[in-house]
Amino acid sequence: MIAQVIVDVAAYPVDRPFDYEVPKQMESLIEPGSRVKVPFGHRDVLGFVISVTEETEIASNKMKSISTLLDLEPVLTEEMLEMAKWMTKQTLCYEIDALQAMLPSALRAKYEKQVECLVEVSMLPPSLQAHFTKKMRVPYKLFETEALLLELKKAVKSKQVQIVTVVKQQGRIKSIRKFEVHADLTFLQQKHEELSNRARKQKQAIEWCMEHVGERFLPQYLADEIFISASVQKALVELGVGKFVEEELYRDPFTQEITPSYALQLTDEQQVALDAITEKMNEQQPETFLLHGITGSGKTEVYLRAIQHALDQGKEAVVLVPEISLTPMMTERFRARFGELVAVMHSGLSQGEKYDEWRKMQRGEVKVVVGARSAIFAPFTNIGLLILDEEHETTYKQEDTPRYHARDVAIWRGMHYQCPVILGSATPALESFARAQKGVYHLLTLKQRAKTQALPTVQVVDMREELHTGNRSMFSRALADAIRERLEKKEQIVLFLNRRGFSSFVLCRDCGTVVQCDNCDISMTYHRSSEKLKCHYCGDEKPVPTECPECQSEHIRFFGTGTQKIESEIYKVFPEARVIRMDVDTTRQKGAHERLLNDFGEGKADILLGTQMIAKGLDFPRITLVGVMSADTSLRLPDFRAAEKTYQLLTQVSGRAGRHELQGEVIIQSYEPEHYAIELAKEQIFEPFYEQEMRIRHRFSYPPYYYVVLIQVSHEDVMLAAEYASLVHEYIGQHLSNQVQIIGPTAASISRIQNRYRYQCLIKYKREPQLHDVLKQLIKIYRTDWMKKGVLMTVDLDPTSI
Ligand code: ADP
Ligand code: ZN
Ligand code: ZN
Repeated sequence: MIAQVIVDVAAYPVDRPFDYEVPKQMESLIEPGSRVKVPFGHRDVLGFVISVTEETEIASNKMKSISTLLDLEPVLTEEMLEMAKWMTKQTLCYEIDALQAMLPSALRAKYEKQVECLVEVSMLPPSLQAHFTKKMRVPYKLFETEALLLELKKAVKSKQVQIVTVVKQQGRIKSIRKFEVHADLTFLQQKHEELSNRARKQKQAIEWCMEHVGERFLPQYLADEIFISASVQKALVELGVGKFVEEELYRDPFTQEITPSYALQLTDEQQVALDAITEKMNEQQPETFLLHGITGSGKTEVYLRAIQHALDQGKEAVVLVPEISLTPMMTERFRARFGELVAVMHSGLSQGEKYDEWRKMQRGEVKVVVGARSAIFAPFTNIGLLILDEEHETTYKQEDTPRYHARDVAIWRGMHYQCPVILGSATPALESFARAQKGVYHLLTLKQRAKTQALPTVQVVDMREELHTGNRSMFSRALADAIRERLEKKEQIVLFLNRRGFSSFVLCRDCGTVVQCDNCDISMTYHRSSEKLKCHYCGDEKPVPTECPECQSEHIRFFGTGTQKIESEIYKVFPEARVIRMDVDTTRQKGAHERLLNDFGEGKADILLGTQMIAKGLDFPRITLVGVMSADTSLRLPDFRAAEKTYQLLTQVSGRAGRHELQGEVIIQSYEPEHYAIELAKEQIFEPFYEQEMRIRHRFSYPPYYYVVLIQVSHEDVMLAAEYASLVHEYIGQHLSNQVQIIGPTAASISRIQNRYRYQCLIKYKREPQLHDVLKQLIKIYRTDWMKKGVLMTVDLDPTSI
């Protein structure tokens, strides 16, 4: 029996399965989807069996065999193997990367280097001997930390020791010990009779067991409540009346109790949308719906009802939400409706918790998963519905290889299971809305707020004018007045800062120098709590300088508006205000998001201040004012999607105000209020923005009119980086048609990260059947040749930012 295995060898130029012999004792266990360890080169690596055959081209004396089978049940289904093939083609990644992406990180292999002693310990150099007194194989790390690597190297050369790489199996299953009563009553009766009357306690215990045939109990419970002591339990086990079993325990990622919710009476619009979706479900037809509903229109209720329909059909549902910050409130709403049938998957869970949730899905113990991007790979086998909430969010696209978009994966799985996909948003991606206009997606529209609350009033304040009239504060008079009013009325306020601390850099007021990171071409960010400058790209830290590194002026200080700076400004202007700040720094701890949001929900603060992470999902009745500190930051990004992203952000935050009984107000501060993205966000209707933005995309040949591919090349040597980028340009130019536009090579917008210089080429095309093949060839050249020369190249089809 031969297994075809995709091996975990990063950056191997050839991406194909390798044949391995299946040892006799594993023949009945190995199946497609099994995780195995196989010899590759001089070490054992992780691999996935993708098929099993009886034929191979490899001579039998050259054939290697599988070393270990890592799981008794295959971890990948046939569907996943098929999906991985598709993803490999679609995103031009290695098949191994596609396969790994489908598994929880606990199941991805970790490697450990170990040193194995091959001779009598006494023959080793004295400095090494101490390590091998107990075991013949020890971690390599020990030698690293004790600076014994040179001795080790010599010992390797003289074949006294060898270095081995060991695949570490991760994902420990947590379990709890229980006492299980024998399942056969007559057996228990027989034991009871056989036992002499002197063994009174045991006899009583068996009598109790006869009432609980086959059941499991915690040993502690038996001892404390039933008075069957530990020693009696042991005796019972010896008699065969019961046995100790390890029962699998799931780590519970839910931290709080949930009050159940019930289906609401749908509005007419909601009902129309739901009917269209359930009709396709009943017909078992794949169809992609774009559910375009303004904020507060009740899209979630439509999801909940459609999921209920899937459950009624005996099927499963996958719900994606953009990121962790949204998940506490969203998962609550799903758990409130479907209780224990819901699994969650997001980056806030520990590796073990994710693994537990994954296994619940794999075993069919839950039917619904709510999670971030990777939950799209939920190991369900009978999916009836897939949903992407806030479908325009860029977090659905993975930035590293495999560069898949969850939307594409959802549509693929929808085809596979012949079921609908719902893409929901108040501000759909331009691409999606264009597809809906063309009839590729089925458009469903919710124009009204579900509780018939009025939309909030939106006011845009021109910050330039504020400055002219002498207001140098970061709060315009309008915003300051509105905040004061809410504080008096005990209503709640959300203040939104576009991007975290991005603009609080340290600037010399004499010569204009901004402190940059030494490794990356980007200004460092000032952090008040640690009084340090940090680079958000490489994590490097520096103390805040007391004089300018260029001109030695003492007038160097931090500048701009990070969340921390706004927080202290709030305390200055509104000393009575209670503020909760939510940004990457205050939410690093596990559960911090949930805690901060809960506190705000319980009214423990008046103002919630934060970056984009607060823009979505918030639904608190007492929020009546939303302030956007500066709408412009994201408009200035060098990216063709800058206007779209700004519009989406402003609409999302505005949607947080007045969602319940109280009327909401939104104040947007801007230095460029005449920009159409800001003007149209104020109007709160999507279509005019869509049309305006489409005209601009058309004029400059950007998506959705054209497709784009971004190729980035980096190297430590700036000359080589530029040179290889030119080679990319040349290669593409030679092999693609002249319909294609190639922009570049240009320096990337951050031209250096971690001391690597970055150049990029952007390819724009409309129809280019050759494209994938040409790119594949280019990647092959890169893998076989350029990589050895220190070049790193990435190819991103349909990048979310450029
Ligand atoms: P969206 O996701 O479109 O922004 P939500 O689903 O959060 O909107 O709904 C907004 C509010 O309206 C929520 O508080 C929700 O409970 C409520 N809601 C939704 N549908 C209905 C309905 N049919 N009847 C009454 N209230 C509803
Ligand atoms: Zn200076
Ligand atoms: Zn850096």
